[in-house]
Amino acid sequence: MTNKHCKWAPSSADRWFKCRGSVELEQVQTRSVHASRGTKGHALAESILKGRRMTWDNQDLDLLDAVSEYTEWVKSRDGVPYIEEKLSANIGGHEVYGTPDAVVARNYTADVPDLKLGYQYVHPNCNQLKVYGLMVHKVFASCEVNLVVVQPAREPVVREYCMDLEMLEAFEAEMVAAMDAPVTFVPGTHCKWCPGSISCPAMHGIILALQKDGYDNMDKETKSEYIRYILDNRDAIKAHLADVENQAVTLIGQGLTDTGYKVQPKFGRRKWVDETAVRKYFEDNCDLQDGQKTPTPSQAKKIVGDDFVNEHSECPKVGVKLTHDDTLETLESFKASIEDEWFYEDGGS
Ligand code: SF4
Repeated sequence: MTNKHCKWAPSSADRWFKCRGSVELEQVQTRSVHASRGTKGHALAESILKGRRMTWDNQDLDLLDAVSEYTEWVKSRDGVPYIEEKLSANIGGHEVYGTPDAVVARNYTADVPDLKLGYQYVHPNCNQLKVYGLMVHKVFASCEVNLVVVQPAREPVVREYCMDLEMLEAFEAEMVAAMDAPVTFVPGTHCKWCPGSISCPAMHGIILALQKDGYDNMDKETKSEYIRYILDNRDAIKAHLADVENQAVTLIGQGLTDTGYKVQPKFGRRKWVDETAVRKYFEDNCDLQDGQKTPTPSQAKKIVGDDFVNEHSECPKVGVKLTHDDTLETLESFKASIEDEWFYEDGGS
């Protein structure tokens, strides 16, 4: 039971099973893992199952309903519950740490439920849950583990996958082989949340392939191969682009000025500063009736004009965006430098 960071994190097992190299790169979490709903939901589930009080934004009743489906399932199981307990196990000489959402242990068996609050379908027979199952087998001496996904957004909400001793031993051998495999970089859909993407050699190779000239002169077969190559790697390319954008924002914020881009605030849709006061104005002056919606700022412009709307509304800042800073020369010199360094080295043209 420890807080130490784990190289072989169960939550990213699907990635390191497929790309052994990903655990060797510097881990830069540049993308926000848009899991605020998931984080909030897991904290709520933990509080409910541990009987703790917590303040709750009661507007998010959907999340409360979703979490309840999971907590009710956990409570319905016989056995001793361990909620959000950090586990560690030695697997093939590697220390593996992880925190399953819950373990419900009983005589030589255990349930390992996992709450999934996203929409993407998750099968309990996934590497993340199998790693948790193996750890539970080792820590609790369970001869059988029941891996369970509780995913309220998908049917069936509760999905189970049971692993007996033979299956656990076979998976352990598979996992040790994955951890002991030579370091290679294999792009795919698993690149999406890879914190090493920014320094990944495979990604650099893909980006250079994107710059390949002469598409118009390719024969049909080469064009097909090129298009297939790019499409096969599209998720990795999108993820890498997001990482590069986020790194640029960070570095520009730290004073790096020669990227050719600048960071500007990004504004959301215009909103009323005080909607109650604006509604009263429309009721008193424009005959707005009960049951009618308050006009939006853009509708209101046509009724009362720009001055009123500008005075009573604002565009909230919702983030930052990168805009070109008119330094094409910098981009060209960068392109030339990476062509020297990477492109021609491989015999590309
Ligand atoms: S970006 Fe993809 S290929 Fe590169 S290390 Fe990460 S998972 Fe592997």
